[in-house]
Amino acid sequence: MIVTIDGPAGTGKSTVARILAERLGFEFLNTGAMYRAVAYACLQRQVELANTTAVGDLAGTLEILFSNNHLLLNGLDVTEAIRGQEVTQSASIVAANPIVRKRLVELQRQVGQGGNLVTEGRDQGTTVFPDAECKFFLTASPAERALRRQRELNAKGDAISLDELLQQQELRDRRDESRACSPLKPADDALQVDTTEMSLDQVAAHLERLVQRAKAELDASFQRR
Ligand code: C5P
Repeated sequence: MIVTIDGPAGTGKSTVARILAERLGFEFLNTGAMYRAVAYACLQRQVELANTTAVGDLAGTLEILFSNNHLLLNGLDVTEAIRGQEVTQSASIVAANPIVRKRLVELQRQVGQGGNLVTEGRDQGTTVFPDAECKFFLTASPAERALRRQRELNAKGDAISLDELLQQQELRDRRDESRACSPLKPADDALQVDTTEMSLDQVAAHLERLVQRAKAELDASFQRR
């Protein structure tokens, strides 16, 4: 069974997807980390982000593995290094590159072949796993999303104003929603959940109930065959 959780930054996708996968005993895939890893590699090797071919060529040579909540880039653990501000902004630039997307979508589908998976990103329900059994699209108000990101950065000793975060968030949303290739949007059959007033535990519990219900219906329909 594949469960997709899409939505913009700061809606709680990764935390909720991780908790949900743990509770269900499913694999967890954080696809944002994969785009971040490509951006990180470009910054490290000083590849111009706007150079579609150079970025695409580099992406084709990278070994990217998301495993046990860690992102391994060519065997090196870059989980923390890819969370910084520069990588965050650069990720949405390389994510508009169709060569990069093609490569990462292939890798993501390979993970899906393993069976039970909770995967989160921007295009999991629309492009990568259009036949997923359960699809969710999380939203939250822009102010709440920026506040969540500010708390995450503050916890790491990175002080940044809410205004600046709101501006960066708006730019990132615009890039993700307006790109030609797999833009951020809910799949037609995704259930939308507004997380503004909910704790992440509440969101995870809500989604778990819905997945368990879908699972029971699937099991029952198999038995009827
Ligand atoms: O989710 P996260 O903020 O880590 O994602 C970083 C960036 O990667 C996003 O801003 C988006 O541009 C891109 N992304 C994407 N498709 C995905 C996951 C992430 O385009 N499936």
